Amino acid sequence: MAATPSPCDSSASASNKKWNNLRNILERDGPFCKTDFTPSPDILDFLQNTAKILVIGAGGLGCELLKDLAMMGFGDLHVIDMDTIELSNLNRQFLFRRCDIGSPKAECAARFINQRINTCSVTPYFAKIQDFDDLFYTQFHVIVCGLDSIVARRWINSMINSLVTYQEDGNVDPQSVIPLIDGGTEGFKGNVRVILPSLTACVECTLDLFPPQVTYPLCTIASKPRLPEHCVEYVKIIQWDKENPFSCALDGDDPQHISWVYEKALDRANKHNITGVTYRLVQGVVKNIIPAVASTNAAIAAACANEVFKMASNCYECMSNFMNFNDLDGIYTYTYAAEKNEECLVCSNAPQALNVGNPYTTTLDDVIHMLCDSPKYQMKNPGITTIMYGKNKTLHMSSVGSIAERTRANLTMSLYQLGLRDGQQLMVSDATSPRTITMQLKYNLVDVEMN
Ligand SMILES: [Zn+2]
Repeated sequence: MAATPSPCDSSASASNKKWNNLRNILERDGPFCKTDFTPSPDILDFLQNTAKILVIGAGGLGCELLKDLAMMGFGDLHVIDMDTIELSNLNRQFLFRRCDIGSPKAECAARFINQRINTCSVTPYFAKIQDFDDLFYTQFHVIVCGLDSIVARRWINSMINSLVTYQEDGNVDPQSVIPLIDGGTEGFKGNVRVILPSLTACVECTLDLFPPQVTYPLCTIASKPRLPEHCVEYVKIIQWDKENPFSCALDGDDPQHISWVYEKALDRANKHNITGVTYRLVQGVVKNIIPAVASTNAAIAAACANEVFKMASNCYECMSNFMNFNDLDGIYTYTYAAEKNEECLVCSNAPQALNVGNPYTTTLDDVIHMLCDSPKYQMKNPGITTIMYGKNKTLHMSSVGSIAERTRANLTMSLYQLGLRDGQQLMVSDATSPRTITMQLKYNLVDVEMN
């Protein structure tokens, strides 16, 4: 007759069983394992007691990521988020409750996981990613991002790439490479990418995947609307100011305002035989947002957590390297290897050439526009310095009032007038990167008459 297990035994065996599925993966060989994978109980031990994972963002993706990673056995998670909890977050950011409104997301998320999953410890940081330096980021084995801002994504990409060191033979020191898993969602669309800094394509290599925000030409909005969005924009930009219905500026959070815009936009759409104007669309266009979809976040976070697990355990090959996901009509995924740009601003070791047609007519302002408008750079507000006669010279810096004033006149001067010659190096700083980027002016003098 079998002895009845004591309650103590059963809880011990339950906690042993808890990781059985992971053990099946980590302690057995299989046809899809990496060739250099050696099954061992030490791997689970590594995930639980040694691996240090940084989650950036504790919002829609962040909540999912923390839950997934904690339940996959990771024992040491860290999370950075600069936001506080709002009522509208609660439908999908399931680690938060109504009483948490107004509190920092990172702290509430960490508290929830720490209370619920006793094998995991989450350390929160109620801060911006820019508040931390390279020493902070080097302590992590893998970094996973669930961000909604492209500038922040570019900044962290640039930071992680700047940590890469090169050996004497010019090859990358593999010890210095911290894998970056990046998830992003927009309504029913999402993507996951795996970035091995300086080895595979980085965020900046494929910057053209993030087109600048959609704006509609005013003439289309005013005279030839084709899309429901055109009708909403018309009411938002033209009709609101003309009719001034509430004697105040349009407030996207005021339901009365949105209802007014909705009715007017619907009238206009009917007049032009356009369908698809809904209250929700009006809200989205007025506030310039795409509604967050919980199921998209769940799918993207799960794919990211899978990649973190593969990276940290070394059991399977990681995804190579970019997955698109769409659950608008059914479910669609597509994975491809995004190519590394050998001249990438961030991850290539090559100096950046800044091509200028005619230095006699190109002004400093033209150069700044080039840095902001070109799909390759998409800078926000670059500051530019150079070295002349062995001295540092600030050419433009709009972020500091007194310097902005002093350097304003430079903007309308040509590069020639500023004394910048072919091959001159410019040091460019911008919010999209923690580093100063060195660019070398390259004049295309073929077309220019020298006199
Ligand atoms: Zn790159």
